[in-house]
Amino acid sequence: MAAEKKQDRGKLVVNENDCKGCGLCVEACPMHCIGMSEQLNHYGYKTAQYAGSGCTGCGICFMACPEPGALTVWRLATQHEPVAA
Ligand code: SF4
Ligand code: SF4
Repeated sequence: MAAEKKQDRGKLVVNENDCKGCGLCVEACPMHCIGMSEQLNHYGYKTAQYAGSGCTGCGICFMACPEPGALTVWRLATQHEPVAA
């Protein structure tokens, strides 16, 4: 039987226009799911980039980021088994 892929508990959205490319979120993420983009934003900074999976929704990157509005962390609802009546 194939192993079932575990659902991510969170999702990170980067607002590239507010990111100053300091890299603090990359260092802070315990899941190592943030990297830096090769592309430059309008300030000329390489910006943070979510890897696309692995986020737990812990919010540590948000706490580490000095730029208000650069990161949004979503905590995703988990699918629970229906409770037996
Ligand atoms: S919320 Fe936590 S796991 Fe998700 S990207 Fe930020 S630091 Fe990493
Ligand atoms: S901590 Fe904030 S400003 Fe620094 S790279 Fe990450 S998103 Fe950009």
